[in-house]
Amino acid sequence: MVGVSHKKSAIKIGVLALQGAFERHQKVFLELSVEAIQVRTPADLAKVDALVMPGGESTTMSQLLESSELFGPISLRIKQGLPVFGTCAGMILLSKKILDGRDDQLSFDAIDIDVQRNAYGRQIDSFEAEIEIDSFDSPFNAVFIRAPRIVSLGPEVHALAYCGDDVVLAKQENILVASFHPELANDVRLHELFLKGV
Ligand code: GLN
Repeated sequence: MVGVSHKKSAIKIGVLALQGAFERHQKVFLELSVEAIQVRTPADLAKVDALVMPGGESTTMSQLLESSELFGPISLRIKQGLPVFGTCAGMILLSKKILDGRDDQLSFDAIDIDVQRNAYGRQIDSFEAEIEIDSFDSPFNAVFIRAPRIVSLGPEVHALAYCGDDVVLAKQENILVASFHPELANDVRLHELFLKGV
């Protein structure tokens, strides 16, 4: 088309789009003028330089990761250093051990944390909290939806933010995880932080 110029961003982010809250993540990257595509197949995965695993239902995502034949290729890319940002259910998928999961539920064992699903109790199934994040000069509004709790962290894991006594944002090498939904905050700073590591 004449007169339409598409600025090509240097990097391409993938948002795992099997189930759950993937669209809002894609929008945040768009706001940051970074190309983000939905990943549903190994061919999609091959195109991306980094991956977001969104919130949703981790048991369902685990099944869909198998049926889409994405589990193996993602696992391999993670070992090769693919930067991945897992939020809520995405954090569960990246963890080493899942408490209160389904027996057949898979995880990538990509970050040395144990997580407990739906750990914040029924009355506060969903809540918001202003959290302080290392290197941010003002608090971040964290939205927790049937959130998992990090119940233990290995020595290689860096805690980047707390809510009460709980670590709610953590990083180990190429893996960043949040137990909340950063894409719902109308605040692009965590996506920017992730992009810095890409
Ligand atoms: N409770 C969900 C699970 O176990 C996670 C909730 C979310 O991603 N908002 O997968």
